[in-house]
Amino acid sequence: MSADYRNYIDGEWVESESDETIEVRNPADTTEVVGTYQRSTEADTERAIEAANDAAEGWAKTPGPERGRILRETAGILESRKEELVETLVREEGKTRSEAGEVGRSIDLFYYYAEKARDIGGPNKQSSGEKTELSVRKEPLGVAGLITPWNYPSAIPAWKIAPALATGNTVALKPASAAPGPARQLVEALDEAGVPDGVVNLVTGPGSEVGNTISSHPAVDVVSFTGSSAVGERVYETASGDQKRVQCEMGGKNPTIVMPSADLDQATEIVAGGAFGVTGQACTACSRAIVHEDVSEQFLDQIVAHAESIEIGPGLEDPDMGPHISESELDGTLEYIDIANGEGATLETGGGRPEGSTYENGYFVEPTVFSDVDPEDRIAQEEVFGPVLSVIEVGGFEEALEVANGVEYGLSSSIVTQDLDEAHRFVDETESGVAKVNDKTTGVELHVPFGGYKRSSTNTYREQGDAGIDFYTAEKTVYLN
Ligand code: NAD
Repeated sequence: MSADYRNYIDGEWVESESDETIEVRNPADTTEVVGTYQRSTEADTERAIEAANDAAEGWAKTPGPERGRILRETAGILESRKEELVETLVREEGKTRSEAGEVGRSIDLFYYYAEKARDIGGPNKQSSGEKTELSVRKEPLGVAGLITPWNYPSAIPAWKIAPALATGNTVALKPASAAPGPARQLVEALDEAGVPDGVVNLVTGPGSEVGNTISSHPAVDVVSFTGSSAVGERVYETASGDQKRVQCEMGGKNPTIVMPSADLDQATEIVAGGAFGVTGQACTACSRAIVHEDVSEQFLDQIVAHAESIEIGPGLEDPDMGPHISESELDGTLEYIDIANGEGATLETGGGRPEGSTYENGYFVEPTVFSDVDPEDRIAQEEVFGPVLSVIEVGGFEEALEVANGVEYGLSSSIVTQDLDEAHRFVDETESGVAKVNDKTTGVELHVPFGGYKRSSTNTYREQGDAGIDFYTAEKTVYLN
C-alpha cells in the first residue's frame, strides 16, 4: 500500500523502502482517515541525513540575505494557504479552529527569521592591537536533526526549521507520527519557495527508528528535540555523548498561584485558560492552582462553574475544547483521574468521558477539577497532559512558593496578585524558565527565549528569539591584522 504523503529527501517526494504506512485519523471522529504517511526506516533516515550533509557546504556559503529571501517567500506561501493549514491541524491534532492560531505563529516565525538572516554575526570591536580588526562571526554548525512532538505540530517544527535555515544549517526533520501534516505543509512551502535540494529533508516514522537515527548519526551536528522528559533525556544522552550540540525541551507541571489580593474573576480566567485550553495538552499547561486559604472556597466555586460551562466538541465546529489526540493520551488522562481518586483528592467536576453521540467516535474527556490535593500526591507531581486541574490550598505566600517549586519540572509558572512585592518575589524565586504575573502559564512570544529549568529542559540553550540564532551557530572570533 502506498502512502498519500511521502518523505521529502534531497528535493524529491519519495516513498520509504518499507511498505508499511502510518494512518492518521481525526481524533474527534476516528472513522475519518486524514492521511497516510510513510513508516520510514533507519535507511530512509540515513539517506535524508546524507542529503542534508551534502547540501551543508553550499547552504552555509549562501549569503544570509538570500537565505532570508527564501524564508520570506515560504512565509508568503504559508500565508496564502492559511485556511488549509488550519484545517489540516484541526483534523489531525484535534485543536479547535481558534486554538489553531499556532499556524499564524508559524508564518510569523518564518518572517521573523527571514529578517534575522540578514544580520547574523557578532559585533566588530576595537582591538588593543595596532591595525587589528576584531570581529565575531556566527557560523552554522552543519546538519541540524530536528525531532518534534504532536501537540504543536506546526509551530514547534517552524521554530526549529526557520532559525536553523536562517543561520545556514541544513535540516533533517522528524515530526511526531500522530500529526505529521502541518510539518509536511511547512516543507511543501519551502520546496515551492525554491529551497535548494537537500537543504531541508522530512522523514516520517517511529521515534525508535527515525528519531534514534537522527540523534545518533555521526553526520548530524546539532540536535533539537521537543517532547516528553523520558524520551528527551535519552536523546540528550545519545546526542551529547557523540559531542553534538543538543537541546531538549520537555515536560512541565506548571503552577498558578492565586493570592488573596487577586481579582478572582481574572484568576479564574487565567487558571481555566491554562488548564483546559488545547485540552490541557500543552507543555506549559497549568495543572496546579495553588490557592491561598482566604480565597480558596470562592475560587473553587468559580473554577468549577467555569469548567462546567466549557463546550466540548469537534475542533472544526470551534467549540471551547476539542478531544485528546489519541486513545493512549485519553487513557493516560483517565488513569491519572483514577490515581487522584485513589489518593483521596476530592473530585469536584468532570472525571470521565462526556456522554452523547457527538463524542462516540472521538477521544473526548471532561474538564476535571480536584480539590484537597496534597502537594506530594502523584496527581500534583507528574505531568498529566490532559485537562485535569489540581487545586492545592496553602496558608501563605512562602508556602505557595515552596509548593510551586516542589516538583521536578520548571517550565512555566504564574501568580495572580495585586501586590507588587509578591509579584517581584515570585519572579525572583520561581524555579521556571517562564514566569508570568497576572497571566496564564500557556502562551509565549516568538521573539523572546523559551525553555525550562530542571527536568523541563536540558537547561543549556533556549529556543526562539535571538536564542534560536545562538543555538544553531558557533562563534568565531577573527583578529585581522
Ligand atoms: P514524545 O517524547 O513521545 O515524542 C516526541 C518526539 O520524539 C516524537 O517525534 C517521537 O516520535 C520522537 N521519539 C520517540 N522515541 C524516540 C527515540 N527513542 N529517539 C528519538 N526520538 C524519539 O512526546 P509527545 O507525546 O509527542 O509530546 C508530548 C510531550 O512533549 C509532553 O511531555 C510535553 O510536555 C512535551 N512538550 C514540551 C514542550 C517544550 O517546549 N518544553 C513543547 C511541547 C511539548
